[in-house]
Amino acid sequence: MSEVVLASRNQKKLVELRRVLEPLVPGIEVLGLDDVAPFDEPAETEPTFEGNALLKAHACFAATGLPSLADDSGIAVDALNGMPGVLSARWSGAGDEANNRLLLSQLVDVPDERRGAAFVAAVALVWDGGEIVETRRMPGRILRAEQGEGGFGYDPLFAADGNERSNAELTPEQKDAISHRGQALRALAPHIVAALGD
Ligand code: IMP
Repeated sequence: MSEVVLASRNQKKLVELRRVLEPLVPGIEVLGLDDVAPFDEPAETEPTFEGNALLKAHACFAATGLPSLADDSGIAVDALNGMPGVLSARWSGAGDEANNRLLLSQLVDVPDERRGAAFVAAVALVWDGGEIVETRRMPGRILRAEQGEGGFGYDPLFAADGNERSNAELTPEQKDAISHRGQALRALAPHIVAALGD
């Protein structure tokens, strides 16, 4: 097996990442931060998804010596000038359910035609051969109430373009096919294959 580490404690991200990468990268074993010796994890201080993904992947590679992946992602809402963006995880300061309640309340007076938003994911790979980061978007809109039980985070509030259903009502495979993270990981997969072969 070829080990890589995902610099994240988010189990749902880890599940999505394994699901997408395992068929594309033969023999890959994706470890999480709970599977490696503890190290000082950097604060996400950069203003961009790419900057934060690289920050996390570099710290992980420096600590573990293993090829390291990091995902920095979030939701950019048109009516909020692209916020919460890199602040998505910390938007309410009180976790996913409170984040969703806060976002709904902020958009309560925003009409359907101005509820556009996009999920964005930057996924970085750092290994002894260098660094690479791929960023992809999933455009859609913010719903008026939560729908569905699947996915995680803001998924129940978001319907991708061309979908009546929220992300939380899609099967995992349907979400992966169109998601920001699925697209970024598919772009990164050949580079992971090359890094593991170095
Ligand atoms: P990060 O861990 O700092 O990258 O924070 C990501 C934030 O964006 C969290 O609030 C996640 O819940 C949210 N997020 C990222 N990707 C998704 C997704 O695919 N679905 C729902 N929420 C997401």
